[in-house]
Amino acid sequence: MGKLFAQRCARLGSQNEFKIADDIAKAEVMGQQVVRLNLGEPDNDSADNINECAIANIKSGNTHYCDPQGIIAFRESIARFVSRTRNVEVSADQVLVTSGGKPPIPFSFLTYVDPGDEVIYPSPGFPAYEVWTNYVGATPRPLQLREENNYRFDAKTLASMVNRKTKLLVINSPSNPTGGVLTKEDLADVATIMAEQAHPDYRILSDEVYEEIIFDGNDHHSIISQPGMKERTIIMNCHSKTFAMTGWRIGYAVLPTKEEAQALRLWSINIYSCTPPFIQEAAKEALDNPVNNEITQKMCALFQERRDVIVPLINAVDGMHCTLPGGAFYAFINVAGICERLGAIEFSAHNQESPLPSTLFQLFALYKHGVATLDRSAFGILGSEKQHYIRISLASDIETLKLGVSRLADAAVDEDGFKDFLKQPELFLQ
Ligand code: PMP
Repeated sequence: MGKLFAQRCARLGSQNEFKIADDIAKAEVMGQQVVRLNLGEPDNDSADNINECAIANIKSGNTHYCDPQGIIAFRESIARFVSRTRNVEVSADQVLVTSGGKPPIPFSFLTYVDPGDEVIYPSPGFPAYEVWTNYVGATPRPLQLREENNYRFDAKTLASMVNRKTKLLVINSPSNPTGGVLTKEDLADVATIMAEQAHPDYRILSDEVYEEIIFDGNDHHSIISQPGMKERTIIMNCHSKTFAMTGWRIGYAVLPTKEEAQALRLWSINIYSCTPPFIQEAAKEALDNPVNNEITQKMCALFQERRDVIVPLINAVDGMHCTLPGGAFYAFINVAGICERLGAIEFSAHNQESPLPSTLFQLFALYKHGVATLDRSAFGILGSEKQHYIRISLASDIETLKLGVSRLADAAVDEDGFKDFLKQPELFLQ
């Protein structure tokens, strides 16, 4: 990095989820018409009543600074929602409104975790968990989620990792990228293990941003509802997925105490002062108006329909395997058979510079077969070496999804094409 950038910049990994836009642009310049199965956002727009609420607020002059913790009406609405759905009592002064769903991640790490503390987070998982663990100088303890366990972790594995240095445990259900869903029993195990073995002041960061996208009639369960966990849990959530509001940048955290909410609030004050008030009014409208809940339910049903068509098509491809996601809107595909057949595993093993096999396959599928996906290492690097997976998103119409899967199927058997691809290292060397 030379002398221009401060040393800490090297600890901020980039997020492939955003970097892939450059690869897609390059593939299009090279003549591909790319089918985008990489998208981490619902394919519907935010609803009219939400849009109109924001516009009306802007027009009426609600365009000034506001309470850095979040406007009280929205915080009260969040507190009511969380209390009702989790069977706990939380108040508006425990809520911090944030600009997007992501800020509670850095804010929690910066507030609770010191160098030398241990952080356990799911892997594969949302990449910011690993990035911030490294950034604050904590010891990363990736908790590997296994396909054979439907990407739930087993209590024994967790128990073997938790000790008195464990300051923060991150959980994410339903999970990005796996679609795995934790059961009430899983959460009861987590609560017991943490209470018995962790640092006396441990916290659990529960990322529940996909809570409304859960299939087969199952309910979402939150760790905060477990006995003794209200005092330990930080819930983070946002409107990005639930109300298709990714570009609005609106989210929130619910903290165990109002003092902790104040501590996290200091980070927002010092970074962006406050979240725009007209966006909060629109976000309150989304949370309070039953119309939006109905829209969310329909969106969820559509994701489930797509899942039921697409996952069998994936499993029909020789070398691909995918468990049925229980929530979120992704299919996490085991491509070990393909990586083996194409020679990606061997190539990667014999070439020091080479990315991992699943990254090679992901880039090959993009550059030579015009389909954009994300690779395993986009979801946490530590411990990912022998795991050969890609993620596709179900946030596209069925015809686009079918086209994308058929392109992946073509890529899977294109041994000559893969050999040619390996002769173009500029396409896969960083
Ligand atoms: N957590 C998870 C698991 C996510 O998938 C995402 C978004 N992809 C976020 C947090 C962050 O949400 P936002 O885009 O609102 O910052």
